[in-house]
Amino acid sequence: MFEDVHWLQVKIDDFLANTPELPQHIIFQASQNFNEKLVRFNSKPRGKSNLPSLSQIGKPFCQLHANKLDWSQTPKTSSFKIKMTYGDMTEVIAVAILQAAGVNIFALNQRTMLPTDEGDLYGEFDLIIQDDDGNLTMWDIKSASRYAFENKFKSYEAMKQDDSFGYVSQLFGYTRAERMKYHGIEAGGWIAINKETGDMKVCAVNPDDEELYYDNIVDTIKRYKAADENNFQRNFSDVEETWYKKPTGNRKLASACTFCDYRYSCWPDLEYRKKAKSKSAHAYEYYTLFKEEEKDLGIVC
Ligand code: SF4
Repeated sequence: MFEDVHWLQVKIDDFLANTPELPQHIIFQASQNFNEKLVRFNSKPRGKSNLPSLSQIGKPFCQLHANKLDWSQTPKTSSFKIKMTYGDMTEVIAVAILQAAGVNIFALNQRTMLPTDEGDLYGEFDLIIQDDDGNLTMWDIKSASRYAFENKFKSYEAMKQDDSFGYVSQLFGYTRAERMKYHGIEAGGWIAINKETGDMKVCAVNPDDEELYYDNIVDTIKRYKAADENNFQRNFSDVEETWYKKPTGNRKLASACTFCDYRYSCWPDLEYRKKAKSKSAHAYEYYTLFKEEEKDLGIVC
């Protein structure tokens, strides 16, 4: 079946297909943007605010709850800051390419605030784009692993199914927040860049979902205010490990938990160890329950 390609994707593809060149003024602006981003390398973690930020509000609720309870977080790896800086650099490159492709960037990297009856949420959006008819749409730029690029950013439906970072709520939250200033603004989507290959992909949302996600945001704030040490509930169970479809007897973290900063507080017996059965020296797994392998009595050493 023929699917419409988003006009933004067409602009990007046309630009990249024709021996692309970045004009000097765009290179200069990109270097200024990168300057501002690189300063963040030295920034210290902000103090905790009363409510989650717009970039956090759509995450699994147990993560927000653990944050409210001040559970200890897994220490960041030594490469964490470089990884964040790569993401910032990718964003600068994407903006430069969009501008060179003739896309009108109406606003870039601005703080915003979403007022609700339950409290105000803060955040910083990536960009607002204006199309040729003057319509404004909200976009986030995401640098993605090959897996996320091919699976999460495949379509809006795929993103909704696997949104453990809360990207959809984040985008609708920014859109709603900016509507106070720009009445007709709608959610656009994500411009994803594959960190491995450099491919760029536009993943557009259905703006009609905004009300639903806004209601979810307000419900989440209510739950967050009521969250205490007596009502914590995990959103995910651990899962049975299998090897060639047979249970190994071990249990491991659900994949959403492997990215969670609170995984060791949440699962006190958690062990990060070499994957059972695998011969690869680099295959590791987060085990919530690990049974030492029984000797295979059929093998004579
Ligand atoms: S480890 Fe998993 S269940 Fe626990 S807080 Fe994190 S995401 Fe939720």
